[in-house]
Amino acid sequence: MTMTTAQPQPSQEGEQVRLLLAELAGQGICLELDGENLRPRGGKLPPGMRQRLVERKAEILAYLHHQPSSRNGQTLPRRRFLRPAPGADASPAEWAAYYVCNGFSVVHVKRGKKGPDYTGWQKNPIKDERRAVQHWTRHPADSIGVVLGASGLCSLDVDDIDRARPALGAVGIALDALLDDPAIPRIEGNPQKARLLFLAPTGEMLPPRKLTLTGKNGQPVMIFELRAGLVQDLLPPSWHPSGKPYRWLRAPWDIEEIPEPPATLLNLWRRWEELQPRMLAAIDPDAGQRQAEQAACEYRAHQGQGETGWDEVRRQIRERRPLAEQLARMDAQERGRGKYSCILHPPDLNPSFWLHGDLWICAHGGAPVGFTSSKTGYSVGDVVDLYQFSKGLDSPGKATVELARELGIALPDSSERAGRSLPPAHSLTDPPRDGKLPVEQSAAPLGGPPADYSIPPADCCIPACLLHPYPMAD
Ligand SMILES: [Zn+2]
Repeated sequence: MTMTTAQPQPSQEGEQVRLLLAELAGQGICLELDGENLRPRGGKLPPGMRQRLVERKAEILAYLHHQPSSRNGQTLPRRRFLRPAPGADASPAEWAAYYVCNGFSVVHVKRGKKGPDYTGWQKNPIKDERRAVQHWTRHPADSIGVVLGASGLCSLDVDDIDRARPALGAVGIALDALLDDPAIPRIEGNPQKARLLFLAPTGEMLPPRKLTLTGKNGQPVMIFELRAGLVQDLLPPSWHPSGKPYRWLRAPWDIEEIPEPPATLLNLWRRWEELQPRMLAAIDPDAGQRQAEQAACEYRAHQGQGETGWDEVRRQIRERRPLAEQLARMDAQERGRGKYSCILHPPDLNPSFWLHGDLWICAHGGAPVGFTSSKTGYSVGDVVDLYQFSKGLDSPGKATVELARELGIALPDSSERAGRSLPPAHSLTDPPRDGKLPVEQSAAPLGGPPADYSIPPADCCIPACLLHPYPMAD
């Protein structure tokens, strides 16, 4: 394992002190600076050591005081590492003690596992060197996990470098430059993957984020993760489930201090919902199309099979007033074939409104008209919904009547309009299978801030406009 190379005092005395501290560290003992006193922590001083420390106290104090940030009570996390890292042949107990001594809160993980198999570890990580030494002395095969939030850390964990590269590139982040940055600590387990360690920004609780694709078996495939909070990362010496040992490619104690994530990465972390579709589109251009198909399917299933007079009216309206024409009437800006700046969510700089046959799809979700799919988060509708929006009508039923009149389409006879045949047999008023009654989905406020890429809550139900898709007799 790498010894420290960037000590501030390359003098003879400094070197002597460094070796002395390394010797102590090798036995799991950390010297803590307490004003002008030295406090050994993490274990019992070996015979003769106390005398040596007393003799060299002045040099040790000078050495430790010279460090930019000396350990001071519970001021965590440490940006700089005080004492030399354990050597290549150091035991896991020495390493665990070293991490704890430097302000990391650690947990033990069974060898070959990715996380602890016991509960409560997030709340009660090991912060005490003696506990750390005790545990890893008894269980030297255990891996060492650092609880990120409790240690003031966060990390970028790249599972699939080849796909993370274009995904991050799509949001302005050069992955290779990050991975090669000499100022960012990097850990490697499986050589096909990479993990970078950062200091968590103070005063901000970053949530964990995951970019995944759906694999062949329908299971999510991890591309990369932004990790923070109540999660743990394995640190060397630990073992990846593949059997490979984790190692530091760039250790934090060889770097002047652990840096915060660069601005571009923090930006991604904070604007995840908005930027995620762009990253997905970069690695799976069909992902958007697939989701659109699914949303359109849901819309059609909810809308019925066209068995009543009103269904026929709506079908004729769709035929006679193509979406493109309605959009042109509404001054929508076409941005490429079948793609528009969303007129429901202006301004839409990254056009997210598409035509899909006689339906439109809005990738923002939460559109004020139409139907928002809880599975995909997309909003879907037809020309009647657009017309309703453009005229400011409060139901698609009214829009159907107005538009039918405008287009000269005959309305169903009054008996059907007034009659019991409404709503049709495949009605959306049938209670959903989960027994919950549908509730109206709140419409996005017009003129408010664009709800770019916001995903509606998973429990959002069928909007009222689809519960009563057709007008009552007037
Ligand atoms: Zn939209």
